[in-house]
Amino acid sequence: MRITPRKEEVEAVKALLEDPTFESADQMAKAVIKEVGEILQMRDWIALVHTWKDGRRGLNWGPFASEVEVKAFANKLSIGGSGHMVKLYAPGAMLANVDGKKGWKGWCFHPECGHAPFTHSMAGNSRGACQIPTCPCDKFRAS
Ligand SMILES: [Zn+2]
Ligand SMILES: [Zn+2]
Repeated sequence: MRITPRKEEVEAVKALLEDPTFESADQMAKAVIKEVGEILQMRDWIALVHTWKDGRRGLNWGPFASEVEVKAFANKLSIGGSGHMVKLYAPGAMLANVDGKKGWKGWCFHPECGHAPFTHSMAGNSRGACQIPTCPCDKFRAS
């Protein structure tokens, strides 16, 4: 999982590290690990799907961050058979379409919204009110 941290990911972890309400380092560490887990669910990944030489279903590995990483891993294997890459779409991004992802780059910054741009109606040249029924957002806010 070779990743380049993105600005919004750094911000999310930083917010925890600067939170003065944690009572112990253990508590903070657990919160950071959970947060990073959620962060990684906001990314798409690649799996390496393996087939044995005789055609039987093989072993699958992942997630990998890039095709380059998959190839580097596959080149180190010497178990035979063949492999192909399968794209894994971010479950966190899918859920964020429903639950919202407040303060997350690319999602609406309206304080009560946090939904994806496409949940907002197109009004003129800008995106208007959020179409999620329970959402009070009246206009997409890019930041
Ligand atoms: Zn919304
Ligand atoms: Zn919105």
